[in-house]
Amino acid sequence: MKQYGVNELRRMFLEFFESKGHLAMKSFSLVPHNDNSLLLINSGMAPLKPYFTGAEIPPRRRVTTCQKCIRTGDIENVGKTARHGTFFEMLGNFSFGDYFKDEAIHWTWEFLTEVVGLDKDRLYPSVYVEDDEAFNIWNKEIGIPAERIFRFGKEDNFWEHGAGPCGPCSEVYYDRGEKYGCGKPGCTVGCDCDRYMEIWNNVFTQFDNDGHNNYTELKQKNIDTGMGLERLASVVQDVDSIFDVDTVRALRDKVCELAHTEYKKDEQKDVSIRLITDHIRSATFMISDGIMPTNEGRGYVLRRLIRRAARHGRLLGIEGKFLAKLSETVIEGSKDGYPELDEKREFIFKVLDQEEEKFNKTIDQGLSILADMEAEMEAKGEKVLSGENTFKLYDTYGFPVDLTKEILEEKGLSVDEKGFQAAMEEQRVKAREARAVTNYMGADATVYDQIDPKVTSAFVGYDSLTAESEITVLTTDSELTEALTDGQSGTIFVKETPFYATMGGQQGDTGVIRSENGEFEVQDTIKLRGGKIGHVGRVTKGMFKVSDQVTLEVAAKKHADTCKNHSATHLLQKALKTVLGSHVEQKGSLVTPDRLRFDFSHFEAMTPEEIEKVEAQVNQEIQAALPVVTDVMDIEEAKKTGAMALFGEKYEEKVRVVSMGDFSKELCGGTHVANTSQIMVFKIVSEAGIAAGVRRIEALTGDGVFAYYKNVEEQLQEAAKTAKTTPVNLTEKIEHLLAEIKELHSENEALKSKAAKDALGDVMDQVRDINGVKVLAAKLEGVDMNGLRDLGDQLKEKLGEGVVVLASAVDGKVSLMATATDGAQKKGAHAGNLIKAIAGLVGGGGGGRPGMAQAGGKNADGIDAAIAKAAEVAAEQMK
Ligand code: ATP
Ligand code: MG
Repeated sequence: MKQYGVNELRRMFLEFFESKGHLAMKSFSLVPHNDNSLLLINSGMAPLKPYFTGAEIPPRRRVTTCQKCIRTGDIENVGKTARHGTFFEMLGNFSFGDYFKDEAIHWTWEFLTEVVGLDKDRLYPSVYVEDDEAFNIWNKEIGIPAERIFRFGKEDNFWEHGAGPCGPCSEVYYDRGEKYGCGKPGCTVGCDCDRYMEIWNNVFTQFDNDGHNNYTELKQKNIDTGMGLERLASVVQDVDSIFDVDTVRALRDKVCELAHTEYKKDEQKDVSIRLITDHIRSATFMISDGIMPTNEGRGYVLRRLIRRAARHGRLLGIEGKFLAKLSETVIEGSKDGYPELDEKREFIFKVLDQEEEKFNKTIDQGLSILADMEAEMEAKGEKVLSGENTFKLYDTYGFPVDLTKEILEEKGLSVDEKGFQAAMEEQRVKAREARAVTNYMGADATVYDQIDPKVTSAFVGYDSLTAESEITVLTTDSELTEALTDGQSGTIFVKETPFYATMGGQQGDTGVIRSENGEFEVQDTIKLRGGKIGHVGRVTKGMFKVSDQVTLEVAAKKHADTCKNHSATHLLQKALKTVLGSHVEQKGSLVTPDRLRFDFSHFEAMTPEEIEKVEAQVNQEIQAALPVVTDVMDIEEAKKTGAMALFGEKYEEKVRVVSMGDFSKELCGGTHVANTSQIMVFKIVSEAGIAAGVRRIEALTGDGVFAYYKNVEEQLQEAAKTAKTTPVNLTEKIEHLLAEIKELHSENEALKSKAAKDALGDVMDQVRDINGVKVLAAKLEGVDMNGLRDLGDQLKEKLGEGVVVLASAVDGKVSLMATATDGAQKKGAHAGNLIKAIAGLVGGGGGGRPGMAQAGGKNADGIDAAIAKAAEVAAEQMK
């Protein structure tokens, strides 16, 4: 059998499937795109998910790739088994609703036996226990005897991820011979040892799981396969492990060379050699995809891999930095399949160097501190390193917690991870409190203070909305960085930008920045000290690194709308001065794509006529189609031209003077329309006072005005619909409705008073004479306190002089009221005392003045007794 190299095998695979109608696609980035469920791409299928779910249309229904993969879950195996790396390449062929099991299995066999030429007698397929279809294809069509086909259960041969598409798998194992076996009885296909090695996995996605393990056949069946390239190479090249295949071996030899040691002399050293070999491959590929070492997420994975490799380098006795040198060998071995490695080599070396240096500075010290801690633990008989100490190693010496854990585990000790997390959280809170200053997008504003003061940006956006430039600085939300990658937010700085940064009341531009392999959405543009312009936003695709060439493109529509509003602000200021007087001074302004806001000195509210006049004048100047001209001149010269300037504002030596015909001339650094006619139309929507002597106008231009009127029209339509009429007849309809309401209201009042009178009935019959004073004490039906008071007044009138006591209940709530005329009071009557004396009988309390008193109560059954007692009390009072 020919011993093909790794790079050869990769090409053979892709070409084979191209010959079967597949589209060969480039490996996707290790950074998942729009997929929060995954930290790093771990299979050929992962970046193709949108094609499998139907969220996106694939470029062809048959696709083949060689995908770079990272599996951190395998990190513990690395160096210990023959077949696991954290980094590996996965060959795969995929069918999106096109061919299915039959073709897939035939092609798998054809590639392995005919193209590569593997020995048929060493290959063993496995199928899912219930998948007779696959079994029969292997058995009847390919001709493999039944006893050589293994049936495995769900755990091994059924691919499933919660709800959604899933299906049985069929794997191919290669028997590498007895010498790799564990020798245990029953060692066969499926054993965990390295003899029967899984090389290829075919997944037949044919079912849909509804989440409760009810399976239905999918209409669109898919094929997803994966074969480890290094594993294939190791059997083709008949070598011990994936660390012995040509490209990886070159790297392994380099490790040995740097460590002045030989492979296969000392098993413990070999583990370190393999570990470094693997980790530097992962790190190189990760950095080439824009991942930077940090303390969380992907960045943490990278930091951990680099620091782990660096420490094992020390264990092997390597002195000084060595990772970049190894990375060079990685690039040499893999640039055939991944040309981007070569393009980014300098960048990769720089990142590795920096990270290694950071770690080297503290590792010796850290290791000796850790040794002290271990001694202390031993003295105390402890087995667990405290969270506090673990945090100290992390914070001061840069030991990722996993590294500390690993070093301790080698000695049978462990780490208090909960305690560590608590110490972390405590520090996070402190840090958050310490930096209260953020820009409004949430970035830590102090990050910008770390930028080299020599860095400046030139604004080239007066004449063009696009520009080509070079990235000078990148920051994440909290630190300077060499690269930003897919999904990350941060700020990009370039030498020359067409993006206008928020300044002079004009809001900054939005848009996109593109590089050869990245896209960044600019959500805001900010001006920073020292003439720096920051583009704040998020990487939506690929990656960016310092020194990249980029194309900057301002969102044109929003920019144009902002220009309209800004130019209209100048016209507005002049019109206000003309209509209201020369005391009008600008006090502030805000110009966005949606509207403009202008604050100015003026001492009273503008009248509707003044507002109309100002609006009309601005619209007149728009219709006059005045050219907008900008001149750059000395500040003194500018002042002589009579240009309006902001009082007390500090201007640069050279200033821009923006003129609109002969109508307006202002000092201004903002961006404007070329001719006032482009503003189209102007509309004031509000005028109000915001401080003593300061008024604020809010206004719209162009499309904003149309949107405004459209909204008004919709509201009018809605109102008319509610009133069951048309907008034209709405006013008339409302007048009708108001008249009707008025009529109904007076009708209602009349009915109410009639009802009260009816309730009175013939109470006047109950008037009694007590010592020459008329006393009326009566119970009424269903009248509330207000009604009682009204009736009391009316009755008092009828009596001339006398005492009136009324009681009534509404919904079980009793109201009592008493009133006494002046004449009655002279004879001793006292309404307040009277109420006080009888309120208890209705379960309440109250009182009042001699002339008028009221009370409430809860006991309606006591009303008759209270009325009876009222007469007695009145008689007593006037004895
Ligand atoms: P294993 O059980 O050996 O870890 P797996 O079942 O995890 O393998 P799959 O998830 O089916 O593997 O991945 C498809 C193929 O990718 C495997 O058949 C193998 O060839 C390769 N592969 C998987 N994990 C690794 C790894 N850590 N290093 C190298 N190759 C791998
Ligand atoms: Mg695995």
